[in-house]
Amino acid sequence: MNDSVVDVVVVGGGITGLSAAYDLQRRDLSVRLLEAAPRPGGVIRTERLDGWIIDAGPDALLVHKPAAVALCRELGLGDRLMPTLTPRTAYILRDGRLWPIAEGSLLGFPVSLAALARSPLFTWAGKLRMAAEVFIPRTDVEDESIASFVERRFGREALDYLGEPLLAGIHAGDADRLSVRALFPRLVEAERQAGSVLRSIRAMRIAPSPSGAFVSLPGGVGELVDAVSAALAPGTVRGSTRVTGLRRAGLFTVDTETGSIAARTVILSLPAYAAAALLRALDAPLADLCDDVPYASTATVALGYRRDQIRHPLSGTGFVVPRVEGGPLLAGTWVTSKWPGRAPAGCALVRGFLGGGRDPHRLDQSDEGLMAAAREALSELLQIDGAPMVERLYRFPRQSPQHEVGHLARVASIERRAGQIGGLFLAGSGFRAIGIPDCVADGRQAAGRAAAYVTECKMPNA
Ligand SMILES: Cc1cc2nc3c(=O)[nH]c(=O)nc-3n(C[C@H](O)[C@H](O)[C@H](O)COP(=O)(O)OP(=O)(O)OC[C@H]3O[C@@H](n4cnc5c(N)ncnc54)[C@H](O)[C@@H]3O)c2cc1C
Repeated sequence: MNDSVVDVVVVGGGITGLSAAYDLQRRDLSVRLLEAAPRPGGVIRTERLDGWIIDAGPDALLVHKPAAVALCRELGLGDRLMPTLTPRTAYILRDGRLWPIAEGSLLGFPVSLAALARSPLFTWAGKLRMAAEVFIPRTDVEDESIASFVERRFGREALDYLGEPLLAGIHAGDADRLSVRALFPRLVEAERQAGSVLRSIRAMRIAPSPSGAFVSLPGGVGELVDAVSAALAPGTVRGSTRVTGLRRAGLFTVDTETGSIAARTVILSLPAYAAAALLRALDAPLADLCDDVPYASTATVALGYRRDQIRHPLSGTGFVVPRVEGGPLLAGTWVTSKWPGRAPAGCALVRGFLGGGRDPHRLDQSDEGLMAAAREALSELLQIDGAPMVERLYRFPRQSPQHEVGHLARVASIERRAGQIGGLFLAGSGFRAIGIPDCVADGRQAAGRAAAYVTECKMPNA
């Protein structure tokens, strides 16, 4: 490589790094984005084949965190954003059957007593205990697990059939270890401010948005990656370029397998353990802190059928599987009931999720074993006859950071130490960001801080 000094080297081309590079380029700074894989996008991958559009990993952008939607609009994708189809009912597996989550619920918790009373998912004892949440005294603890919070406030049944599969499940994690404060600060705040989650939700009078909580793009979430990449100047993104070392002597030197680049600042938008490997020579305690962020491995299986092979109505978005129910699946989604245009006419696409923090050994199985386990479980639940027309397995080894109890304190320590290395910035899902919108916001914030640092460096008396 024969770059002279560049203003910013961004290491890691997931959505965090791409957003950072895009932002920096708009500020007229020179940028290189170095990505180990042949193509950018990180865990965001969309496969398009013969009329099937398959998101391997993420498939939805949360609307109430606006950074991803805002980026889509900036990139000219505003008119392509599409809400989920209706009905948006999600289901929970109990005793081998799928039960709908009460309408008008927030994060699964029923807002109205009438809806809770009607819910077929819970026993009367469980419903009464959930309704009694308003009388449970507030407890001020520094941090606690999702399991501890939900059981303390709503009881054991709510933990087993709501908190565990929904709140921990969407983070592919173990409810006994994930931090409620890091992942669901609104619940913690609700208890702190109103003394009760239900009272706080009711006082806020949050009506579910008529267009739903999520959007996607007709070509899958991969369209966002394609659009950001296309907006970057040619030569900015270097794929198949693994960074192997980071040195500092005035300027940074970023070493790759094919050469080195000198940079005024560096943004590491990598999994925390990959950042740790690069930071070890610069600051070993900082590397140790990054190494301590745990990661889980997950897999998704996508199965495409003729619609008439599936007897289940697929009326809704999909289902989650509580840990207490057992089985290989964490969740399943009915892709063609969520988004239009994902399968050829007369066909249906479903996905299954496996592994994660609660089932860490699942991914030791062979590809064939995983695929067969998912296919059998989905066939039984959705009454599917015959073999799929299309089947795909995607593995995500150590790609789901687990924001466990103590995560926020660890990240604060990481930020304090990293702040002492002028010109070095950390961003992405291993640190503060949860999901794509946060990653976009975090990448852009890191870009802003890097830009300010570069401006300072270039001042005549600096
Ligand atoms: C199965 C699954 C489903 C999900 N569903 C959703 C969803 O529907 N909605 C949502 O908002 N979020 C979802 N998420 C979470 C979301 O996808 C992530 O939070 C986000 O994409 C992480 O982006 P990132 O850039 O921080 O990290 P990553 O995507 O992990 O990117 C890091 C990049 O760094 C690269 N890299 C690593 N080491 C090096 C090195 N030494 N040199 C150079 N490059 C390196 C990697 O190759 C990778 O491309 C899902 C995640 C998974 C796994």
